[in-house]
Amino acid sequence: MGSETPLSNSQPVTWLVGSHRQSLGPGPSLRASNIYAGYGKAEVLFGVSIEVSPGECVTLLGANGAGKTTLVRALTGIVAVRSGEVTLGTRGITNLRADRIVRAGVAHVPQGRGLFPTMSVEDNIRIGGYTLARRSVERRVGEVLGMFPQLAARRRQAAGSLSGGEQQMVAMMRALMMAPLALVLDEPTLGLSPMVRDGVLELIQGARGAGIAVLLVEQNARSALEVSDKCYVMRSGRIVYEASAAEALGAYEQLADRYLGAEAGPQVTAESAIDDA
Ligand code: ATP
Repeated sequence: MGSETPLSNSQPVTWLVGSHRQSLGPGPSLRASNIYAGYGKAEVLFGVSIEVSPGECVTLLGANGAGKTTLVRALTGIVAVRSGEVTLGTRGITNLRADRIVRAGVAHVPQGRGLFPTMSVEDNIRIGGYTLARRSVERRVGEVLGMFPQLAARRRQAAGSLSGGEQQMVAMMRALMMAPLALVLDEPTLGLSPMVRDGVLELIQGARGAGIAVLLVEQNARSALEVSDKCYVMRSGRIVYEASAAEALGAYEQLADRYLGAEAGPQVTAESAIDDA
């Protein structure tokens, strides 16, 4: 592991201009409508609906085990949706294969980053373009590296030798290979120092500023809310609170006491939770 240095991005970022996607018009919203999902006999999501608009960062909060990662997996085709619908703009993407969902424009940065530590930075990034034609892949790798000069200089280094924050950047660069319209990040700042965490959140703001619809699952709730427009809180597989990020920050202590502790206790309905907040 290298040392933890602040992440900065001195280059103007052309997030949405990929070799295969040139439109800079308003992008589509990512929506889940009343979705149910689970693992085998275990039901985990019970009628979850969320919406992430283009150019908006939405934070998804909740205690451990609330179902946040399961929702992310249902949106990205890793866990089957048992009922309900996932859409990107007008396009239905419910239960498409994960690679088709990536192609449709939804990129996923999974919890733990999912990098291949012995492979180089460049090869890890290249993987994000595996559904593109070979020539497009090489062009896009160059574009993405061009956005992050700090990492471009270390393109041949093994990804596992980078600091945690730099590895998180590589995971984001891999997601940007397809010039996504929506970006779903599962705990991208987990285990990072506050300084490096702020750098990652800054990058996320860059994505939002470029018109990407960003869904951010975070444990560092306060920092996430500070860079977000809206928030949802999940508990026991349901959305129990929805508010603007500013409103959620204003009621933060109550929010944390009520929803962000251990997953236990009686079920709270969305209506009562929102009324009480
Ligand atoms: P954390 O913050 O700890 O990641 P989370 O809110 O993301 O929690 P999930 O990981 O979605 O929650 O887990 C929701 C529920 O689904 C938990 O009860 C968990 O034990 C269960 N679960 C998660 N993954 C699996 C799996 N692969 N097989 C069976 N059950 C699972």
